[in-house]
Amino acid sequence: MKRTLILYFLFIFVFSFELFSDELLTVPEKTNYQRTSTYQEVMDFVKALKERHPEKMKIEFIGITTEGRKIPMIILSKHGIFKPLESRLLNKPPVLIMANIHAGEVEGKESTLMLIREILENNREDLLEKQTVLIIPIFNCDGNEKMSPKNRRDNGPELAGERKNGQGYDLNRDYVKVESFEVRALITNVFNFWDPVLFVDMHTTNGSLHQEPVTYAPNIAPEGDQILTDYMWEKALPEIDKTLLKKYKVESIPYGNFIKRDDPVKGWRNRAIEARFGTSYYGLRNRFSILDENYSRADFRTRIKGAFSFIRAILEYTNKHMDEMCNLIREADLRAIKEVKNSEFPIRFKLTKTYDFLIKSYIFKKRKILESERERYPKNWYGDYLVEKTDKKKNYCTTLYASFKPYKKVKLTEGYIMLPSERQVAMHLKLHGINVQVIGKSFKGKVKLYKVIKIESLKSPYQGHFLHTNIDYEEVEKEVDVPKGSFFITLTQPLSRLVAYLLEPQSRDGYVAWNFFDRIMVNQWRGYSIYPVYKVLKTPKVQMHNF
Ligand SMILES: [Zn+2]
Repeated sequence: MKRTLILYFLFIFVFSFELFSDELLTVPEKTNYQRTSTYQEVMDFVKALKERHPEKMKIEFIGITTEGRKIPMIILSKHGIFKPLESRLLNKPPVLIMANIHAGEVEGKESTLMLIREILENNREDLLEKQTVLIIPIFNCDGNEKMSPKNRRDNGPELAGERKNGQGYDLNRDYVKVESFEVRALITNVFNFWDPVLFVDMHTTNGSLHQEPVTYAPNIAPEGDQILTDYMWEKALPEIDKTLLKKYKVESIPYGNFIKRDDPVKGWRNRAIEARFGTSYYGLRNRFSILDENYSRADFRTRIKGAFSFIRAILEYTNKHMDEMCNLIREADLRAIKEVKNSEFPIRFKLTKTYDFLIKSYIFKKRKILESERERYPKNWYGDYLVEKTDKKKNYCTTLYASFKPYKKVKLTEGYIMLPSERQVAMHLKLHGINVQVIGKSFKGKVKLYKVIKIESLKSPYQGHFLHTNIDYEEVEKEVDVPKGSFFITLTQPLSRLVAYLLEPQSRDGYVAWNFFDRIMVNQWRGYSIYPVYKVLKTPKVQMHNF
């Protein structure tokens, strides 16, 4: 009897942590992984937890979507820190985890809900020791509610939301131009306001073929601070990868795709370097970011388990190394203030090797595309052959290509002057948190200006734009009259990398490319007008005030 009783209590002790009341179960847990949660179900879940732990959890709303939904952000703190100033003063820096930017990619949403429950209900408050945790479980609320069997569903659930937001934008292409309500809210109310040390963005892969359920990448934008990128590749991600395998029994590899599927040893590539993507954008702000892409062919339960384990492993890492990470970003800010002006800024890149690694994949076979399949596999996309996965597993030693060597650089100066006609652009720079000043008195000064010779653009619309893909300029050094009311954007500021990225006339993903100056840069009478942003060799010695 005594022994049975001991066993009984042992059983209760071991398993009680896994038993939750109905309101504390996620929708996939309640439906045998058939369904994903709606907006209302996400809100009900977090409210139930909030009622049980009001002193450690707060629900805030960072903004309102096109269709009027409030975007929730959950703040977790065991020190009662629910404001950015407190987190700074009490040295519990924020870490941000965001899911559902593409609302068809839903395991991030489910796993962040599990993470909140895990921390508060399962004795994982150790994860809040050195940090304040911010969680946005359902960023694209409007997309999430358009559940349909026509959307991507991967290997479960039965229905999932759609990729675009309520305006039709892909939110993960919006970080430079910021036209969506969601990204605007994220940049102003979270990035600028809270300034998280790390931003984790959760997705599902698009067609890569391997066995590992979790894939990851740090910021790989080559215009970012290389020391931060190296730290992620060399220290943080290998350690997180190791925890994930050893503690949580989940395999992971860097995010990418085979360069040649019929020859996997040729390499594994990730080229998403532009700041239109959230993780690259965040890197240009001298902060850490991690892209999480869970393997789309893994079943829903495995994807949730992988994602849930990954974010726990990340928080374990940041909690342990927070001081080190804060020092690194502080130094990166100082470098951005001191070293970017007058430097050679890279603008065109060649893909290079990051490191060799082992990938668990499959044997692939090549077969000719039948004429009857042409509708599904158009010739201009697929050519004549398909390379398909077989069921036979195979490991490959391959090379990760996710690093970039510049082959073209431009010389930066001390800053940019923007003519008064660009007031709207100046406001947009402010939205990014960039320091903009207004020139109080007209003056004569030596500048570099850019005469447009030729503009090439995309033939079809992309994210509401006809993106300029190539612009030829003639650079002229000249003394000009700078009118009162012009704007000065100094490169002596923490966001200098982002400033150069947005304003350099040849940037492939800056304001010129995204049509911000199309009002002015038109081909009329005697050729194109001049680019309305000058580069000043020296900071003007005139009266200025903050815009
Ligand atoms: Zn995605």
